[in-house]
Amino acid sequence: MPAAPLAPILITDTDGTEFRVPARRSARAQRMLLRVDPARGGPELVLPDGVTPEVGADFARRHIGWLRARLARLPARVELADGAEVPVLGVPHRIRHRPDQRGGVWRIVDPDGAAELHVAGRPEHVARRVADFLKAEARQAIAPRARADAAALGRPVGRITVRDTASRWGSCSARGDLSFSWRLVLAPESVLAYVVAHEAAHLVEMNHSPRFWRLVGRLMPGYERERAWLKRHGGRLHAYG
Ligand SMILES: [Zn+2]
Repeated sequence: MPAAPLAPILITDTDGTEFRVPARRSARAQRMLLRVDPARGGPELVLPDGVTPEVGADFARRHIGWLRARLARLPARVELADGAEVPVLGVPHRIRHRPDQRGGVWRIVDPDGAAELHVAGRPEHVARRVADFLKAEARQAIAPRARADAAALGRPVGRITVRDTASRWGSCSARGDLSFSWRLVLAPESVLAYVVAHEAAHLVEMNHSPRFWRLVGRLMPGYERERAWLKRHGGRLHAYG
């Protein structure tokens, strides 16, 4: 039976600032966990079985200083709206709404290197259109690479999907299907290539053994730099849209 959903916990700091902390139960959790989820841009309290919400609220209250500091460090959300800047394969693009034009979303690159995404149509559709454009770009950047990497390893590859996964940049199923977060298109191209190589290497080694990492290194020499980039800056990619 699935655990009953928990009510969000309200905690108040000494200066009167109130925080609403969504809470959930986890059978796997060994202890209480207060975290800030970059994907959702907010806090979350995880309670193991047997710990009451009251005890959880106490725990959250004791760590309110930590929570506030973490929330303050979250990257500001960037709406996909006219005037906003969004990176496409690491290159900043300014979004320009063109209500007078037809034709969806197109890219304009100036000779001096400034890049823009022009978006036709009604203002309330700009965000959706830009997101759809970015997802299509992600698919275009990821799928041929994944097939090439799989071929280099001599493995068949199943379906390649691009979706909005909150927790993982990529995954590889036992059947050889690969799945990726569309947000990788916001990262530098080499970082996207690293994640593709990583998942392709799982077609051979379904683990993170030294043999697995040797395969990643064969597909992408020097991948450690990209891996480090993702650890350090990956959370920022969740701030868009
Ligand atoms: Zn992995």
